[in-house]
Amino acid sequence: MPIIKLRETDFEQQCIVCGGTRAVLLRDLQAGVTIAAGVADPDVIALPPCLKCGACEFLIRSPAGPTTTAAVAGTRDDRAQSHRLLVDQLHARLTREGRTSVVVANASGDGRATAPASEVLGTT
Ligand SMILES: [Zn+2]
Repeated sequence: MPIIKLRETDFEQQCIVCGGTRAVLLRDLQAGVTIAAGVADPDVIALPPCLKCGACEFLIRSPAGPTTTAAVAGTRDDRAQSHRLLVDQLHARLTREGRTSVVVANASGDGRATAPASEVLGTT
């Protein structure tokens, strides 16, 4: 799961199942996933399956608002916070570039969206 490094067109990620590292292209991603017929979660980014083991992982953006905990450099909390910041940066970039799922793009203000089943099928 951990994002190791966010680059211009991709990021380096370590698979939580097999431990392998890989480059995930940003063009293969979108912000938001369909979680049920016509219902989307705009905070989630689905990663393509791991090429080695097939694991499917998801990244979840932090809740809105400033982080309230301070992390000490080099600790587990520090690495977790670094990962969260990278996920938030990635989510913001995808959203800014308009790479959101169809259902999320049609969302009303509450972040949860409904859409006709035909649109949901189109996002998978
Ligand atoms: Zn794997």
